[in-house]
Amino acid sequence: MKKKDLEYFKRLLLEKRRKLLEQVGYLEERALNSTTTDSSGELSAYPFHMADQGTDADEREKAFLFASREGRYLYHLDKALERIENGSYGKCRACGGDINIERLKAVPHATMCIECKSKEEQEAFRRRPIKRE
Ligand SMILES: [Zn+2]
Repeated sequence: MKKKDLEYFKRLLLEKRRKLLEQVGYLEERALNSTTTDSSGELSAYPFHMADQGTDADEREKAFLFASREGRYLYHLDKALERIENGSYGKCRACGGDINIERLKAVPHATMCIECKSKEEQEAFRRRPIKRE
């Protein structure tokens, strides 16, 4: 993926992340401040090891957050940002092919191309537990 596209998705992911944190009323000022792109426009380091910082109260709040639906979404956003940093962003984890850019615009934390994703969903559907009364 082009650097320009990566920066676009990084901004998109950070924006989604910020909104999500706002929505759950959880603001990690230090993290937000350190994730902005620097003046040269280079991708700046992203703090993945947030658990290393913060107090016990923060940790409890995080534990609570990560148990929620929003928390899991946040986890996926963070994982996507991690992939941007390590260069694997936009690659399908099943077939290794490029994920369609329009799909990424709709679901920036997607880890699979649409073909593999729908295959997986069909598979999950076939394997669903049969309910017995
Ligand atoms: Zn695929």
